[in-house]
Amino acid sequence: NLVPLRRALISVSDKTGLLDLARALHARGVELLSTGGSAKTIRDAGIAVRDVADVTGFPEMMDGRVKTLHPKVHGGLLALRDNPEHTAAMAEHDIGAIDLLVVNLYPFEAALARGADYGEMIENIDIGGPAMIRAAAKNHGFVTTIVDVEDYSALLAELDAQDGQTSLAFRQRHAQIAYARTGAYDAAVSTWMASAIGEETPRRVVVAGELTQSLRYGENPHQQAAFYVDGSARTGVATAEQHQGKELSYNNINDTDAAFELVAEFDPVDGPACAIIKHANPCGVARGATLAEAYSSAFDCDRTSAFGGIIALNQPLDGATAELIGGIFTEVIIAPGADADAREILGKKKNLRLLTTDGLPNPRTALRSYRQVAGGMLVQDKDAGHIGLDDLKVVTKRAPSDAELADLLFAWKVAKHVKSNAIVYVKDKATVGVGAGQMSRVDSALIAAKKAERMAEALSLPQPLTIGSAVASDAFFPFADGLLEAAAAGATSVIQPGGSMRDDEVIAAADEAGLAMVFTGMRHFRH
Ligand code: 5GP
Repeated sequence: NLVPLRRALISVSDKTGLLDLARALHARGVELLSTGGSAKTIRDAGIAVRDVADVTGFPEMMDGRVKTLHPKVHGGLLALRDNPEHTAAMAEHDIGAIDLLVVNLYPFEAALARGADYGEMIENIDIGGPAMIRAAAKNHGFVTTIVDVEDYSALLAELDAQDGQTSLAFRQRHAQIAYARTGAYDAAVSTWMASAIGEETPRRVVVAGELTQSLRYGENPHQQAAFYVDGSARTGVATAEQHQGKELSYNNINDTDAAFELVAEFDPVDGPACAIIKHANPCGVARGATLAEAYSSAFDCDRTSAFGGIIALNQPLDGATAELIGGIFTEVIIAPGADADAREILGKKKNLRLLTTDGLPNPRTALRSYRQVAGGMLVQDKDAGHIGLDDLKVVTKRAPSDAELADLLFAWKVAKHVKSNAIVYVKDKATVGVGAGQMSRVDSALIAAKKAERMAEALSLPQPLTIGSAVASDAFFPFADGLLEAAAAGATSVIQPGGSMRDDEVIAAADEAGLAMVFTGMRHFRH
């Protein structure tokens, strides 16, 4: 199954590493063929190379749209070397075998990232490149296909190990990568087109990903798992730099994502904020005059659950905060930076994973989310919904005070990131009770209040912090019972979407309890 490399075709848009590769192949006696720009780069470095145009007898034409689309190229890639008819055809038409194809495609994704216009995007759709990649990968019995700059070294290592040849296993592995590359490329083209032409529900969709990390296991040890990035390079856990600690696990990545997306709701311009996450739900979120204060307040919401939690900050981690966090067992910290003090303090905590990013995710960006169901996939926009003061409608006799309003909006932002049914109590810009994931809204209200009671006991407070709190409900109260439960816990103001058949009943109950209630007109289910 070993195949010697005699002739290579190189056609690359990204010229990184090109000369080293060309030189190494040339030194091994491999004949080099190449397209315009690639050939020029190789030739200018004094390495012998033959133009594809010279092989095909056709010049590159139509702005490069047609360069390699020719039987002399595709025959050389596709011919079965052990098939007499194929070899006869090669002889008859003077087609030389191509044993190695090195291609990286027109930078369509980069053009997308810089917001190129329609015409420019179209010109960045590579045609000949994918055609050659698919041909070479199909013929992996004889041909090696390399589509990523980062694989050049693996190729040279293989040639060293196999005495200038490649093994079938190597060619198969890279054929698989090659098809994933052309698949992802067309996925990017098709996704871009859907948005460019305003097609909201295209008849077909493709999702692509590139392996960034093999994970030890999934949610549970008997599940295999891996982490793939989609190339969007959005700020977040996928683009974060890990400074210390063990490898991230599947659950770590999922929770860190939830934590960072949540804390990003709190604009750093308005001051520090901290979110602590367990099992993808927040167990404490707070603002503070300092980051350390924000962390302490978040921690005080539910100290029990915060143990082994994931912490996200909306500002670079400082020494004082790192000192506090270091006091209890924490799995992961993610922040847009960490100063030298913080790095040194946490450096002693070998198991703690510290991740930093260049900034915060933008919670208003319209992204798509995908979820698998049996036999298919649900696609929707991510919840980028946002409510401001002007969107609120006061529905009770009493209007909330400014302090209540601030806490209501805070609670609303948190509720958006809590699994439904979500009930969130907030006092002085810190959560004081979070009820998550219950099948009934009353139970969420009760559980959150119960947790607040327990924390009050633990902290020797005279009364639970839910007394005088603002409460958010991620969806409307279908009956007055949930609202009454929140009132019983001491909430004095309420934020909820409204829109129930029994809104009148719920409003009347709120008035009777002296609550101030606002409707958002927007719901934040999260499942
Ligand atoms: P070069 O810089 O060598 O002139 O061009 C390299 C790029 O051209 C590669 O990205 C390769 O995929 C692409 N390419 C090669 N052949 C063709 C072709 O026939 N048509 C188009 N549109 N692109 C091609």
